[in-house]
Amino acid sequence: MKASSAVYEVLHLRIVSGKLKPGSRLSVPAIARELDVSRSPVREAVMGLVGEGLAQETHNRGAVVTRFTPAALVSLYEAREALEGMAARLAAPRFGTDERQRMLGILREHDEVARRGDFLRHIEVDAAFHLEIRRTAGSPTILRMLDEIQAQVAVAMRSTSVSGGMKQAVEEHRAIFDVLVTGEPEGSEQAARRHIHRLTGLLKEGAE
Ligand SMILES: [Zn+2]
Repeated sequence: MKASSAVYEVLHLRIVSGKLKPGSRLSVPAIARELDVSRSPVREAVMGLVGEGLAQETHNRGAVVTRFTPAALVSLYEAREALEGMAARLAAPRFGTDERQRMLGILREHDEVARRGDFLRHIEVDAAFHLEIRRTAGSPTILRMLDEIQAQVAVAMRSTSVSGGMKQAVEEHRAIFDVLVTGEPEGSEQAARRHIHRLTGLLKEGAE
């Protein structure tokens, strides 16, 4: 693996998992020292993160982990709604026994997590559900675009205080699942869109 890719993987994981919080500095010399690599692969990795919207350049502090504004989060969700809908549409006819089993496991855990009220775990299980759909869709372009959006969403969720609605998310996931297992593309797309659309609405209220 190239040094810059290895550095990228480390930083990406720290940002998406929330170990590096929005607004944290990504100091090239400090990271190079810590990971015991030269500065150029670190610079390259940071540039990659900036390109994906996970970091942003500042005037005098170098790059920092992106702090999403409420309006930026709404814009992410509008794109997400269209892409999640298309992913579900493509996934429906490809949804077999393995997918069904994995999805049932995710739904069962999500139920428990919502009952416990564990919001951080909810973000992870929710992400696992959507990952399963876009992987099944079989479109490399949609997979890549939604991976990027999902990473930004994970960071943005930590910049805002949008929480709650966990039980409703589980119900909507079940509704998406129920259509997916029938293999019906149109209904699957609508169910996925409805779910993301409701979240977009909540975010808009918060952004006003
Ligand atoms: Zn969801």
